[in-house]
Amino acid sequence: MFYHRIAVNVPLSDGLLTYSHSEPLPQGARVLVPFRNKTVVGIVWETDIAPDMDTARILSVQTAFVEEKPLSQSWRDLLAFTSRYYHYPTGQAVFAALPQGLKETRAVEMPQPPLFYALNEAGRAQTPPPSRFNKKAALWDALLSGGMTMAALKQVNAQAAKLIEDWAEQGWIETTEAAKSVLESCHGQASHSEFVLNADQQKASDEIQTAFGKFQPFLLYGITGSGKTEVYFDAMAKVLAQGRQVLFLLPEINLTPQLLKRVESRFADVPTAVLHSQMAAGKRTQDYLRAMLGQAKLVIGTRLAVFTPLPDVGLIVVDEEHDGSFKQDNELRYHARDLAVWRAKQSGCPVVLGSATPSLESWHKAQSGAYRLLQLTERAHASAQLPQVEILNVGRLKLDNGFSPQALQLLKQNFEAGGMSLVYLNRRGFAPALFCGDCGHTFGCPNCSAKMVLHQRARQLRCHHCDHREPIPFKCPDCGNQDLTAVGHGTQRVEETLRAFLPKAAVVRVDRDSTAHKNDWADLYRRIADNEIDILVGTQMLAKGHDFARLNLVIVLNADGSLYSADFRAPERLFAELMQVSGRAGRADKPGKVLIQTQLPEHPVFAAVKAQDYAVFAENELNERQMFAMPPFGFQTAVRADAPRVADAMEFLNAAKETLAPLLPESVSQFGAAPMLMVRLAERERAQIFLESTSRQDLHRAVSLWVQVLQQNRDGKIRWSVAVIIIPSKYSSLTSGKVL
Ligand code: ADP
Ligand code: ZN
Repeated sequence: MFYHRIAVNVPLSDGLLTYSHSEPLPQGARVLVPFRNKTVVGIVWETDIAPDMDTARILSVQTAFVEEKPLSQSWRDLLAFTSRYYHYPTGQAVFAALPQGLKETRAVEMPQPPLFYALNEAGRAQTPPPSRFNKKAALWDALLSGGMTMAALKQVNAQAAKLIEDWAEQGWIETTEAAKSVLESCHGQASHSEFVLNADQQKASDEIQTAFGKFQPFLLYGITGSGKTEVYFDAMAKVLAQGRQVLFLLPEINLTPQLLKRVESRFADVPTAVLHSQMAAGKRTQDYLRAMLGQAKLVIGTRLAVFTPLPDVGLIVVDEEHDGSFKQDNELRYHARDLAVWRAKQSGCPVVLGSATPSLESWHKAQSGAYRLLQLTERAHASAQLPQVEILNVGRLKLDNGFSPQALQLLKQNFEAGGMSLVYLNRRGFAPALFCGDCGHTFGCPNCSAKMVLHQRARQLRCHHCDHREPIPFKCPDCGNQDLTAVGHGTQRVEETLRAFLPKAAVVRVDRDSTAHKNDWADLYRRIADNEIDILVGTQMLAKGHDFARLNLVIVLNADGSLYSADFRAPERLFAELMQVSGRAGRADKPGKVLIQTQLPEHPVFAAVKAQDYAVFAENELNERQMFAMPPFGFQTAVRADAPRVADAMEFLNAAKETLAPLLPESVSQFGAAPMLMVRLAERERAQIFLESTSRQDLHRAVSLWVQVLQQNRDGKIRWSVAVIIIPSKYSSLTSGKVL
């Protein structure tokens, strides 16, 4: 009998359980095992171990999917690291990283390598279609050139499938599985690019290429439109030409049909896997397997794609590396950008992090030399110009549903001149609320400590945490004032205001609802191209990734919301967002204009946006962080617990703290348990305890010890979690000193 440690998706013993099998099993193989009267999927983690328990009690593996290719050693190393680093049980981490098909109890079919089509001898002996059948002749030429995939052939001629079927019936077509033709056609890549790289771009790409075959992180910094994507593409083409794989990660919102089309036309003959959460589960599983088998050479995806097994990766690219969507904020709290760097190191290949507004962590690493900085200094499009940014202090202005008179005037002028405008709402950390203008009373939820959100249409106040609802009150419960004021502006009312102000303008709102369907974006682009839209109204969704050629005026209605937040990354995020949204204006040949309304015009973030100067912003912000020992200079972690009463949660944490005090590394300091800012959440009360250290490693050791102690002291009433989000130390007081 052989004993194996199997990773299963259960919150028990790190998810690694012992099972027996009459035969040896390959590591990484998928198996079915019994667990609590059910059959569950497992991954063989360690083989042929000496059992650490009574062998009579060890259950046996039910099925081993021997036809499937096992998950590789390097993939298992990645998951073992992920589980350790983010303090998450190995079994559960493994299953978070697998696509649906591999979590199911059925065997999966391994994808077949793609077929390559070419003319056989008989075919080559035929007279080619006359060149007046342009597309048909082009397809014939493609087949003559020595073998292409159907996908690539369809790029040449949309009717390829039908035509090739006809020609195959004539006995003119041969198919092969060999991938050699992929390499050959990749060598011709340069010809696919529309233009010659400019000097900056060429230099960046050259530097990346000299690092091929070894680990080297790069930070590619260049404003929106400076041609970063073309640099990635150039370096990617070279790696693909060597027959090696490329992993290209980007934020969910940037994985647009536009971008995919751009990739498709540039890398038409490269077998590509696309992995993101919107994709049908079956297709996603197949693409995952194609990447794992080395059939897919180019792997594009969002954060979860960082877990794709890649047998031969030669380059990793993370576009918009600063983007918050690379971080998963629940359960397995990983950061895909950081894991991408880890994977590059593991594979010994370069990794390129690109952004117009890099995360301060990456910028700091580039300044200190840990990353190599590549810089694009100009917009690639020679005619495109930087936007003119104006910061408008609206502190003393009378606003019309959020609009200053200046903003309305600009919108009117632009409409009359035939331009297209964007009205941008910053909704992060911001929701419409009701308050009493006389006594300042605000309306809190009776169950939670959250403020209630105003829903004008339903005439209700609602709690977005526990879903408590009540009708809008007629008067202030404190002072009796009947004139209650609404603060915050939903996109709804902005749209109405614009319609009333410019009745002839075509105003279109873009939000999650209006872009829920697959074709909504395509439709929007068509309408923009056809000059059917004068003013777009929208939120974050519009800031990124979308290139609206006609856009030449951007109005930012309420920039400040996130500056009131206690999150120390808020200014960084706001800066990135404002840079991105202002980058929307004037991407084509017209210079753009941007008006930002704010109540805090003296905040340094606005001066930096006006100057369009990331470096200055980053330097200020990093100095400040250093002063307060915040990341990347110091580290803090929170352990959280919740219980029906906050006192119990605090007592639980404080007891663990006492136990741990003598065990922790010296550099780690612990604070007392405190109720969280928002104590009540859905009938439970929450407390947290902070651990701080200047050493990330020590902090990790401390957290591991905490997890061990908490696991031993289980208490049915109390739940706990570790937030490996590294939080700043003294920032809350700094925030209030600065802006409140
Ligand atoms: P980024 O990724 O930095 O936002 P892109 O790579 O998307 O920039 O380039 C912005 C625009 O400039 C695109 O329309 C692109 O086709 C064009 N472009 C990029 N590089 C060049 C170049 N070397 N010559 C001419 N146009 C270019
Ligand atoms: Zn509530």
